[in-house]
Amino acid sequence: MEKRIERDERIVKLMIQKYCVNFHNSDILCSECDDLLNYSVKHLLECPFEENKPVCSQCTIYCYSKSYRNKIKQVMRFAGPKMIYEHPKDTILYFFDKLRYRFRSVKINKPN
Ligand SMILES: [Zn+2]
Repeated sequence: MEKRIERDERIVKLMIQKYCVNFHNSDILCSECDDLLNYSVKHLLECPFEENKPVCSQCTIYCYSKSYRNKIKQVMRFAGPKMIYEHPKDTILYFFDKLRYRFRSVKINKPN
């Protein structure tokens, strides 16, 4: 089975591509979006929660810097709703992760 971080990496890539095609008219990622993707993947790989990772919008760490957080928010807002039609399985898994995190009683604290 696909690892949690691998799936998130694949999804964030899809979403940034969608955003870039639409707003920057670029078939391959423009330098700004490429930078955002690298930044996102780097943070995913460093995410201390690994398989128990909450979806990023619910995370308590906020590992993104402010400017990157604003950029990725725009990407999610645009590409998120489109994912339901084009990648329904991933979207269902995403909501499952979201619920699983919400109903878990364990509090996630920032690891040392
Ligand atoms: Zn772009």
